[in-house]
Amino acid sequence: MIPDNPAVSIDLNLIRRNFPVLQTQVHGKPLVYLDNGATTQKPRAVIDKLNELLESKNSSIHRGVHFLSEQMTGEYEYAREIVRNFINARNTNEIVFSSGATGSINAVAFSFGEKYIKEGDEIIVSEMEHHSNIVPWQMLCARKKAKLRVIPFDENGVLLQNEYKLLFNEKTRLVAVTHVSNSLGSINPVKEMIRFAHDHHVPVLIDGAQAVQHSRVDVQDLDCDFYVFSGHKVFGPTGIGVLYGKEAMLDTLPPYQGGGDMVDCVKFEKTTYNQLPFKFEAGTMNYTAAIGLGTAIEYINSIGFGAIMQHEKNLFAYTQSRLKEIEGLEIYGNAKEKISIFSFLIQDIHPFDIGMILDKMGIAVRTGTHCTQPVMDHFQISGTIRASMAFYNSFEDTDRLVEGLKNAVNMLK
Ligand code: PLP
Repeated sequence: MIPDNPAVSIDLNLIRRNFPVLQTQVHGKPLVYLDNGATTQKPRAVIDKLNELLESKNSSIHRGVHFLSEQMTGEYEYAREIVRNFINARNTNEIVFSSGATGSINAVAFSFGEKYIKEGDEIIVSEMEHHSNIVPWQMLCARKKAKLRVIPFDENGVLLQNEYKLLFNEKTRLVAVTHVSNSLGSINPVKEMIRFAHDHHVPVLIDGAQAVQHSRVDVQDLDCDFYVFSGHKVFGPTGIGVLYGKEAMLDTLPPYQGGGDMVDCVKFEKTTYNQLPFKFEAGTMNYTAAIGLGTAIEYINSIGFGAIMQHEKNLFAYTQSRLKEIEGLEIYGNAKEKISIFSFLIQDIHPFDIGMILDKMGIAVRTGTHCTQPVMDHFQISGTIRASMAFYNSFEDTDRLVEGLKNAVNMLK
């Protein structure tokens, strides 16, 4: 694993120049991009890599003996090694490429569900999950007549650990919980939650879609059974994601999809499957995106999580204090352990109206439920404005946001 040096500070001007979209204008104003929870922007290195692959290397992987195919296969498998190193998996058999966090969770819900879930069994999720970590389990429960149990959170957006522990019984088969909430920003104590689940012989899936871009994740240290994330939220391309699974666990699971590459020998009498991780990669994979994800991770590594985390911590504190200047602004999600995601409402103004006005000022935020309707139900609200930050955001971005919000409130009052 790459060591993280917290003493190294970030060269923000240089970093921002690496992201072409940050130099663009929206409605005649320099873009302030604060929708990183939805998707992150791509550094020049990733854009160049994709161009290079499409211009001079494109060829289907794994099945060719010719030069281009071998080259592309080499790059694809190297990207798998980069991902392995990024999350400190034991070996590349544990790294399966998917279409995204959603694809990875659905794969586990189907595959693990086929093998281990039967009528009356229970699966634990939390009240702050993204719909992607609720609906696949609901579908599984409907198929198998199993039951979903839900860990509640308190008014600050902190998961109630006592309630979590009370949910366990002899029917509990899996815990699926988010590492970081995409609408509240809460960082959940997943390591402790995993340890508790394992004490009860229950495996755990962690949804890391909002975690891997903000801090170093070590799947061996966490000891999770599955860990999932999306490439596009970690400065890589869309259409690619990662499913980490412990090898011993993945070995026991049936494939999720059938098709080319995931097979060993196909006969009408009986088909045998390929070894890990290919058993879970049916058909022509999104190999260019996988390689682009590898480049994005190398870019992150070149900055280092020590510097990234320090900058994001400073940005968080500054934004938190500046948002207090706005009368009637209420933040949803005030956990002590939190990333730079700010979900808020201002007085009784509809979030959509504020979002539209901010957009006219070149400021991109998200409004709505953020695919977490149960979170909105908890607070009995219909949605929030969400400003979500990445390491390339600056203090000036926060200043522009605060000015924009003040102007919007003046216009709408
Ligand atoms: N989980 C969390 C916590 C998310 O924030 C998201 C996307 O916002 C997802 C899962 C789904 O990610 P994707 O749509 O890239 O599959």
